[in-house]
Amino acid sequence: MKLHEYQAKEVLSKFGVPTLPGFVCTTADECEKAATDLGGLVVVKAQVHAGGRGKAGGVKLAKDPAEARAKGAAILGMTLISPQTGPEGVLVRKVFVTSACDIEREHYVAITLDRAKGLPVVMACKEGGVEIEEIAAHNPSAILREYFRPDEGLFAFQARKIAFALGLTGPLMGETVKFLQALCKAFVARDCSLLEINPLVVTKQGKVIALDAKVAVDENAEYRHKDLAAYRDDSETDPVEARAKAMDLAYIPLDGSIGCLVNGAGLAMATMDICKFHGAAPANFLDVGGGASREKVTEAFKIILADPKVKAILVNIFGGIMKCDVLAEGVVAAARDVGLNVPLVVRLEGTNVERGRQILAESGIRLVVAKDMTDAAQKVVAAAGGK
Ligand code: ADP
Ligand code: MG
Repeated sequence: MKLHEYQAKEVLSKFGVPTLPGFVCTTADECEKAATDLGGLVVVKAQVHAGGRGKAGGVKLAKDPAEARAKGAAILGMTLISPQTGPEGVLVRKVFVTSACDIEREHYVAITLDRAKGLPVVMACKEGGVEIEEIAAHNPSAILREYFRPDEGLFAFQARKIAFALGLTGPLMGETVKFLQALCKAFVARDCSLLEINPLVVTKQGKVIALDAKVAVDENAEYRHKDLAAYRDDSETDPVEARAKAMDLAYIPLDGSIGCLVNGAGLAMATMDICKFHGAAPANFLDVGGGASREKVTEAFKIILADPKVKAILVNIFGGIMKCDVLAEGVVAAARDVGLNVPLVVRLEGTNVERGRQILAESGIRLVVAKDMTDAAQKVVAAAGGK
């Protein structure tokens, strides 16, 4: 789950990471009021789940409340297009009006998980600001890496090493060490998958501040962070994926033509493989889970049917915990609700399989019954128009 900048800063400041004050606004009126309350120069920043806002015109300086109102009016409602949004861009619904600061230097710091090492890693680069992707591609040795154990956090000597590499010595050293250790603490405590500060700035007054913040929280750990639920903003998420998520279905849209409804991630992978092996690509990965209810199966089936790429559907169920009759009822209910407009191939095996087959047979729905996975894949590929 991605957080907006203003949300990320709320989270980080609780761990002692220094940020600048600000207000999230949805109207030009609110921008003017926020600028009045903050006093002095402010920056109006688009709040979208993508970086590169500065270059895309989504970050603007305003010298007084009237200008903050005008800049707010211009940014709110704009379609922001940056390398991270894709060509269609994203609609800006909220802005963050925050105090401006006098920047002396901009650096880059991020924490993510190194899966190969099985540890969180702090990455730091002296050149901060907006061109970090360039540096990563052309001069990777300019990026320093420090690994740390989640239970130990970042040691002071490691934080000092990073501070040195960034040139933050003398009176800035102590501040930077505290900053980095707080960041690592937040990363672990909030189960982040990404925490990026770009730029970390040194102000002309000699303060170290997180001027931008990008945070993603591991969705598998969301249950441990109920207080973050209010931060969820699905307005930029694909509506079908959001629907699947609400039903707790593991759903990933793909480019092929075979709609797959399967229980269990392993079986789902095998189903996609065998379809591909027999000549047609899957339109999605969809795992309804081990003990899916009839409602879940119905919703899953509707999601597949709503996809115009789908030329045929393969239901491949192994009834272990899940019962085949429950699955059959879900399929029948969904097909009746939305109308089945493409061929359907079903392969059922396991608990209550006879009862499941009977429900399908008596439903009057037109479907092809397959006897095993190979048979099912061949039949569904043929039904979708062949190779
Ligand atoms: P993005 O990474 O999406 O482009 P940033 O928040 O990093 O957005 O802002 C881009 C640039 O705008 C920063 O590198 C910085 O130079 C400037 N900037 C952002 N916020 C402020 C601020 N509060 N005061 C002064 N300059 C700012
Ligand atoms: Mg940035």
